[in-house]
Amino acid sequence: MTAAAPATAGEKTAALVASVEDLRVHFELKAGVLHAVDGVSFDIADGETLGLVGETGCGKSVTARSFLRLIPTPPGRYAGGRIRFWPKEARQSGGEPVDLLQVPTSDMLDIRGNRIAMIFQDPGKALNPALPIREQVAEVFYQHRTEDLLEAWNGRAPRPIRRAASQRAGKLERLAFKFPPLRSQSKRLKRRVDELVGDALAETQIHNPRKIMASYPHELSGGMKQRVMIAQALACNPDLLIADEPTTALDVTIQARILELIRELQHAHQTSVLYISHDLSLVRRICDRIAVMYAGRIAEIGTTQQVFHDPRHPYTQGLLAAVPSFAHRRGELAAIEGTVPELIDPDPSCRFHTRCAFATDICGRVDPVLDGRVAGRPVACHGYASPEELGVAAAELPHLDRSPA
Ligand code: SF4
Repeated sequence: MTAAAPATAGEKTAALVASVEDLRVHFELKAGVLHAVDGVSFDIADGETLGLVGETGCGKSVTARSFLRLIPTPPGRYAGGRIRFWPKEARQSGGEPVDLLQVPTSDMLDIRGNRIAMIFQDPGKALNPALPIREQVAEVFYQHRTEDLLEAWNGRAPRPIRRAASQRAGKLERLAFKFPPLRSQSKRLKRRVDELVGDALAETQIHNPRKIMASYPHELSGGMKQRVMIAQALACNPDLLIADEPTTALDVTIQARILELIRELQHAHQTSVLYISHDLSLVRRICDRIAVMYAGRIAEIGTTQQVFHDPRHPYTQGLLAAVPSFAHRRGELAAIEGTVPELIDPDPSCRFHTRCAFATDICGRVDPVLDGRVAGRPVACHGYASPEELGVAAAELPHLDRSPA
């Protein structure tokens, strides 16, 4: 199959960089099977920023980490579905995608940090406290950019240096670096690494990259650490950048600068971005399209404009109504009644039915599917389903045009 985007309304008509189809990620727990992600589907078009929003525990991060197979198995299990990924060459030549859940581990090691990179929520935890910044950013070049490191030798680097540039140097070779002429060659390699790491850090507008390279993570502020993570993530010019709540651990003023930086670098590198957040105002500023998640499933997908100005799913409507505004009377805060359901061995039903003001009997018996035929864009709600396909009378379906009870 080639990388052609679906023609569903609200979807971009462009080449796809990734397509998630019916992804199911379950966790085997003592109490039963936790359906953390249960039938999630969405596409990411080339060059777009897709926001994946939802409250804590709705499965956003599990979905994101599945792209890089970072879910510990066990207790986790990829119970179904696929994540197709089109690397740049496949997009340009109309070639076949790879299924990220099926590729051999050796191929996944090449994809991680190279074709798909991730910025984690807390840079303080993601960076190694025992290594200077230089070593941590240099690792990406040693792992994936051996040719860049050896550029200065024009293909004539001695074998030990070639091995050192790919981090495969053995003990003997490392010993040999102490003696001329290999000593001068290894110095040249170090200078090249310094150059590439310095450039990567400078791109994230870090002042004095040389000084930062020699620092340890605990010597840097939160914003600075996140810039280092961004430099590391973009060092190899990935096709897809996954940003998992990258500004949650930062204060508001730094948040704005980091967001701006991600946006600028995305344009410069022409990278697609999957932006995970629980913060609606934030995704509104940065995303082209938004997929709203609730309790392990996608509730609706649309352009940012559609989701904010014409939310179709009752959960999205509730979320937007809960955002404080000047229209609310003082002291009055809207909220969605009830709590998120238990996801251990759930029965078939709409997972929002215990909280939904429009719910009818069918909502508690049948899973709604993500369908764009009636709503004009993908929405998972029986209010947009066809009664014939469900085998019920039209009166049995929820009527979303009435006022909520
Ligand atoms: Fe779910 Fe029914 Fe409410 Fe739609 S109307 S969100 S299907 S409970």
